[in-house]
Amino acid sequence: MNIHRKPRIAIDMDEVLADTVDKLIEVYKERHQHEVLLSDMHGREFGQTLPANLASSVKQYINERGFFRNLKVMPGSQDVVKALTEHYDVYIASAAMEFKYSLEDKQAWLEEHFPFISWTNIIFCGHKILDVDIMIDDRIKNFVTFNGRKLLYSSPHNFLIEGFERVNNWPDVAAKLLST
Ligand SMILES: [Mg+2]
Repeated sequence: MNIHRKPRIAIDMDEVLADTVDKLIEVYKERHQHEVLLSDMHGREFGQTLPANLASSVKQYINERGFFRNLKVMPGSQDVVKALTEHYDVYIASAAMEFKYSLEDKQAWLEEHFPFISWTNIIFCGHKILDVDIMIDDRIKNFVTFNGRKLLYSSPHNFLIEGFERVNNWPDVAAKLLST
């Protein structure tokens, strides 16, 4: 690490800053009167908890305009990210090319909930190939080509994955990256 610059952190959005699973749960409750509990997921993707006749609809809902626009903010994330910006170069790194309206929805969501993050520090991308020192992400596929410090943010789908440094919530991130 170059000591003349602040360390860089890349922070993921879905399931790290934004509660995407909560939105999916709401969608299936509203449109199908089908209730998924977080405990049903435990180590599985949301779609894997659905009955066969509903499983293929997940992609359709994620592709709707607005899906990513009104996700709940993960508790504590705004304050901790703000505090991180004092000690680190903070980037928000989110895949935003796969689903049709995700880029504009995610941009508007960030502007509303994280207005202190400049556009220069937003990386909307396909694969996350990033020159940063620390990554916070819930998907280990994003760690494959990354040699820095990896913080796996706990999400129901990754509960059974072992061998990574984990953070379970934003106070955990603060404890690891802001203390001392
Ligand atoms: Mg994610």
